[in-house]
Amino acid sequence: MTTTDFPATGTLAPAESGTLLLTNVRPYGEGEPVNVLITDGVITDLAAAAGTEADRTVDGGGNVLLPGLVDMHVHLREPGREDTETILTGSAAAARGGFTAVFTMANTNPVTDQPVIAESVWFKSQHAGLCDVHPVGSITKGLNGESLTEFGMMAASEARVRMFSDDGKCVDDPLLMRRALEYAKGLDVLLAQHAEEPRLTEGAVAHEGENAARLGLRGWPRAAEESIVARDALLARDHGNRIHICHASTTGTVELLKWAKSQDIPMTAEVTPHHLLLTDEKLGTYDGTFRVNPPLREEHDTLALRQALLDGVIDCVATDHAPHGSEDKCCEFEHARPGMLGLETSLAVIAELFVKTGLADWRWVAKVMSERPAEITRLPGQGRPIAVGEPANLTVVDPGSAWTARGSEMASKAENTPYEGMEFSARVTTTVLRGRLTCVNAVSATPRSSVDA
Ligand SMILES: [Zn+2]
Repeated sequence: MTTTDFPATGTLAPAESGTLLLTNVRPYGEGEPVNVLITDGVITDLAAAAGTEADRTVDGGGNVLLPGLVDMHVHLREPGREDTETILTGSAAAARGGFTAVFTMANTNPVTDQPVIAESVWFKSQHAGLCDVHPVGSITKGLNGESLTEFGMMAASEARVRMFSDDGKCVDDPLLMRRALEYAKGLDVLLAQHAEEPRLTEGAVAHEGENAARLGLRGWPRAAEESIVARDALLARDHGNRIHICHASTTGTVELLKWAKSQDIPMTAEVTPHHLLLTDEKLGTYDGTFRVNPPLREEHDTLALRQALLDGVIDCVATDHAPHGSEDKCCEFEHARPGMLGLETSLAVIAELFVKTGLADWRWVAKVMSERPAEITRLPGQGRPIAVGEPANLTVVDPGSAWTARGSEMASKAENTPYEGMEFSARVTTTVLRGRLTCVNAVSATPRSSVDA
């Protein structure tokens, strides 16, 4: 069996018993196709003979086999906004996107600021059995930005909370952030910062630049993000704990991350597919779908972010999957709630930008969408090599599928995809969570039990 030094997760639902044969797949898109035999949730043969008997056989169609994807940053809206997404529908969207583990942010209602709420999220995800949904605990009580939550109690809870964030809000008080870093260090848990100096973004709805000025939208300057990234790099240096920057969006943030890494400051960062692909040119129609925090920036930002991801200055991709109902999106731009769907399109966007263009290969995709996020969150059993003895958390990608993104066809309860009508060539066809098929023929499987339908 696999061994890592990573701390255990909460109790996992039992792995699928019996055998599953995944035929005709190419691990990391390399070499000749192989047949992968999975027994009781573990990879037991990477060269099974054709015709090997199994309880279930899935034809991989000669497609690319990757380790199951890991997303450090989603919003599944439960508890509180089950009308827009639930643990169940969000898990189905994750499975369809190729994910076997996601981290759901704490800005729910009530806020995930105590063990009982975190445990409820964890148990629901294990009952549904479509994806491991790890709750992120909030850094401050009720996201009030004033007093710290009990990291220790949440870390020791049945949910084994391993990441804390006030995402949606910035921990802007520097002394409080320092205390949080010191507290987190003692427990060896990860803090994730939504970098946004709130005084600089009052009333801001779009990137501060020519487009916002022309459209009459209040601008959000890059410095609002960069000033917090710089401050937190210094705090992490002096009060030494890991810190992770959510959704990096500017050229300046890339420069600061480069500096922090050159100083061996334990700072990591993620970038979203939408900040890599889209710019504020999209705002011309005042379509609320394109309102997001941080806002879509300019072309030079997207280019700097892409290069930073290729260079490892930015560690990984995270979707910031943020479902909203149409009443919160089909309204005046200023009143639209910020956020976009991401789980079911992220692999396609990354493949389009990096693999199709020849900038990177599938092994690199495995690194930035599975291995690094699992390492940063110290998640055992995920982001592991495709090898005999490893847990069967896998995804199969058809690189030449040709499909069109449609919000109405997604497994997510909401439809606010920024890629509506866009054509992509890569698509997840199959996802396996510890031997259990959670997505087959690009359709998510039925949950293990419908606890919260
Ligand atoms: Zn955020």
